[in-house]
Amino acid sequence: SVQIRNVSKRYGSLEVLRQVSLDVEANTVTCILGPSGSGKSTLLRAINHLISIDSGVIRVSDEVIGYEQRDNRLFELSDRDLCRQRSHIGMVFQSFNLFPHLTVLENVTCGLITVRRAPKADAIATAQHFLDRVGLAHKAGAYPAQLSGGQQQRVAIARALAMQPRLILFDEPTSALDPELVGEVLTVIRELAESSDTTMIVVTHEIGFAREVADQIVFMDEGRVAVAGSVAEVFGSDSPRIRAFLDGNL
Ligand code: ATP
Ligand code: MG
Repeated sequence: SVQIRNVSKRYGSLEVLRQVSLDVEANTVTCILGPSGSGKSTLLRAINHLISIDSGVIRVSDEVIGYEQRDNRLFELSDRDLCRQRSHIGMVFQSFNLFPHLTVLENVTCGLITVRRAPKADAIATAQHFLDRVGLAHKAGAYPAQLSGGQQQRVAIARALAMQPRLILFDEPTSALDPELVGEVLTVIRELAESSDTTMIVVTHEIGFAREVADQIVFMDEGRVAVAGSVAEVFGSDSPRIRAFLDGNL
């Protein structure tokens, strides 16, 4: 589960997150929608402490992210502790961020071997299992440049899954793809959502997809959570900003 309480973040005079609070139950899917610049990526990056926050607290599986309390003061965690926390939180970006000089299989095993210190044979077995799950077992020996964008993104998803994280964050996983490749990636994410043993937060502009898979929809606007609720609550909202967004006018 994820608990976000009163999180604020500013860049200079720009308030990018304003008192954001949000709960995500374990084994559910939350989709975050909202206009460009509303703070969606910033919020995701705060959840695995790729950026610091100015105030508030974020907990994943009841563990405070990024900070520890000593003598009644908050201190940023050591790199080692941050690395351990991040190894439990998968992230899939818009640009797939695969290592170009490693094969598909090596891209998926490297975190298991270097961070989890898994024996090589176990790492390979785990990687093959998750590559199979995204339909790419037959590409294990290929290099990223030999794959389509959709295939590369499915490898990035397998790599995140292989770490068996408590939470997976997706930041617009399909927006860098050619339109004909969007479907295969959404299908993989939809299957994960249905398998119901994964907690996911997905920032997406694919409104139809969000409507289908989300247990919770969050609409962000100008750094705030404007509404969080069920699909029916958010899509049925009569808020003019949400209506304008859903109608494609924001
Ligand atoms: P999009 O849908 O376009 O991806 P977003 O909702 O993900 O938008 P963010 O990337 O979170 O928006 O950015 C929110 C605001 O914070 C924007 O105005 C952006 O310019 C600003 N911002 C983000 N990162 C930084 C940074 N490192 N330094 C300064 N401003 C930043
Ligand atoms: Mg973004």
